[in-house]
Amino acid sequence: EPLEDAYQILINSFLLQTSTMERTYIMIKPDGVQRNLVGEIIKRFEQKGYQLLAMKLVRPGKEHLQAHYADLAGKGFFNGLIEYMNSGPVVAMVWGGFNVVAEGRKMLGATKPSESAPGTIRGDFAVEVGRNICHGSDAVASAEKEIALWFKEGVCEWNPSRNAWVYE
Ligand code: ADP
Repeated sequence: EPLEDAYQILINSFLLQTSTMERTYIMIKPDGVQRNLVGEIIKRFEQKGYQLLAMKLVRPGKEHLQAHYADLAGKGFFNGLIEYMNSGPVVAMVWGGFNVVAEGRKMLGATKPSESAPGTIRGDFAVEVGRNICHGSDAVASAEKEIALWFKEGVCEWNPSRNAWVYE
């Protein structure tokens, strides 16, 4: 029995570190920083059970922001979006965990705060789409691209001791 338990723990930790583990890029935009929502947003991801893998406060400049939002370059709001994103520091973070890309988007709420449910970050703290306080990767592939763009130095590997209480 104890040996079986030990094997199970080993298998679980292996699964956790491979197939079930995802990473996502979460960013608190300049309005989120100015409105003192940094702690609130970090708190939600931390309390949910996700793992903080990297974090920094940065003003990366227009070119970097244009690269981040390259897919939106043709949109009418693109220049305004870059001005807004360049108007102050952002908090860049990487969070890890089971299904964290899709779950993270759920926690953020819809792109338009007017369509975000109460209980979501945008639903609770934002009003307009052009001031929606946070960003979250929309797919696993874009998450990895964004992590590579924002954390060229890499992220921090560590083993959270609470994992046995978050994952079965
Ligand atoms: P999301 O951030 O939810 O992935 P998008 O990738 O479509 O959404 O858009 C990126 C960001 O551009 C949005 O979070 C928002 O800040 C801004 N944005 C999107 N649509 C508009 C719009 N119609 N007017 C102004 N800003 C917008």
